[in-house]
Amino acid sequence: MKTPVSKNEKLTVTVEDLTYEGMGVAKVDDYPLFIAGALPGEEIEAIVVKARKNFAFARALKWFSKSPDRVEDDAQQDGVTPLGHLKYAAQLKFKQNQIQQLLKKAHLDEQIKVLSTLGMKNPIHYRNKAQVPVRKINGQLEVGFYRKGSHHFVPMKDFTIQDQRIDEILQSTLVILNKYDLSAYDEQTQRGLIRHLMVRRGYYSHEAMVVIVTNGKSFPHGDKIANEIIESMPDVKSVIQNVNNRNTNVILGNQDIVLAGASTITDTLNGLRFKISAHSFYQVNPQQTEVLYNEAIKQAGLTGNETVIDAYCGIGTISLSLAEHARKVYGVEIVPEAIADAKENAQLNHIDNVDFEVGNAEEWMAKWESQGINPDVIMVDPPRKGLTNSLIHSAAAMNPKKIVYVSCNPATLVRDIQQFMDEGYHVSQPIQPVDQFPMTQHVESITVMTRS
Ligand code: SAH
Repeated sequence: MKTPVSKNEKLTVTVEDLTYEGMGVAKVDDYPLFIAGALPGEEIEAIVVKARKNFAFARALKWFSKSPDRVEDDAQQDGVTPLGHLKYAAQLKFKQNQIQQLLKKAHLDEQIKVLSTLGMKNPIHYRNKAQVPVRKINGQLEVGFYRKGSHHFVPMKDFTIQDQRIDEILQSTLVILNKYDLSAYDEQTQRGLIRHLMVRRGYYSHEAMVVIVTNGKSFPHGDKIANEIIESMPDVKSVIQNVNNRNTNVILGNQDIVLAGASTITDTLNGLRFKISAHSFYQVNPQQTEVLYNEAIKQAGLTGNETVIDAYCGIGTISLSLAEHARKVYGVEIVPEAIADAKENAQLNHIDNVDFEVGNAEEWMAKWESQGINPDVIMVDPPRKGLTNSLIHSAAAMNPKKIVYVSCNPATLVRDIQQFMDEGYHVSQPIQPVDQFPMTQHVESITVMTRS
């Protein structure tokens, strides 16, 4: 196969654009080179790492000129955060622009505007959860990360975007683990014991949970290690062994064993208490989640008399935040454990105007429709793949005054907006991006649609 560039070829190029994944794009004639860490406007020397028929990946070797939007801090260049090398104001613009470009491609940019991204004052150390691989380097267990698209493990102490107390807990846990002769998992041979460490920490409660993911159930000294963790770190309220002996890059296995302390921790969000287990889906940026939910609730324009459906409700965080502003809320979610958590969270907060159902949002939407439920507002917060036609059809058939779409993927958002337009809805306010994931390429936004 003849490609316009070949592996290990060195080229001098000018970067023109950023992909939705935050990679720099340079062109050789019309053939794109994707270059991690390179920014638009920069002239660089790059080496081709992988050449395919329609594109190539290259690595930047040398900069002849640098973007004014570049952060001049070398710690940000190592790839742990895909957009860490871009100044924060430019990151916020990049995210707004992602949505604008997709609307433009769909010829909707005249009609639908996008507001500036709501960002964080201090956009680092925000994550309340870390899931990091453990490997043995020079006889010591270490945590770190894999460079994008490689098997190159980089040990790391400060992960930039994780709660700093979580970084400390990771290091202290390693010190304890390293007192025992434990092996680290090896993907190639599928042998070795410790696969990952996961730490969650309540932003308001300061309660922490340590999850040690092991390859197999046998964990020599596991109880002793867990007790040492709890004794040396009083804020750690739960130590869990999670067993994962499958050959997969899914981090958690199905079996949890409580080694010390409780099985859950709690945190508050918008003043409501939530129980969080090792497996619970819980938003990772608590500060911005409050901004996101409050914005979504505001845009829903509730007066206290409405019936609201919260499809894709997870552990009920949006439903329960909405409850005091609505007459009745219905939530649906496909993971049974999440609904068990949601029901418990409703009780914990003495909220009794929310019904939670386990199942497919499409099916429940159709069921509620056939039961004659008339929602005033339908709130959707789907995973990256977005909504299905059947869900959009059932939602529109219930004729809600408003649809509030919380999206974590602008590509499927714009696709689904067009589908809603075919069903007689239109976007009635500018789209509001909210930065849930600073330093990364992820774009979260809120869109409101009403009947045309
Ligand atoms: N609104 C929640 C969760 C959003 S994440 C929050 O803010 O925390 C999206 C959720 O949709 C996940 O919990 C996922 O399990 C759920 N989900 C995925 N596919 C689904 C489907 N077909 N029907 C219902 N829920 C689904």
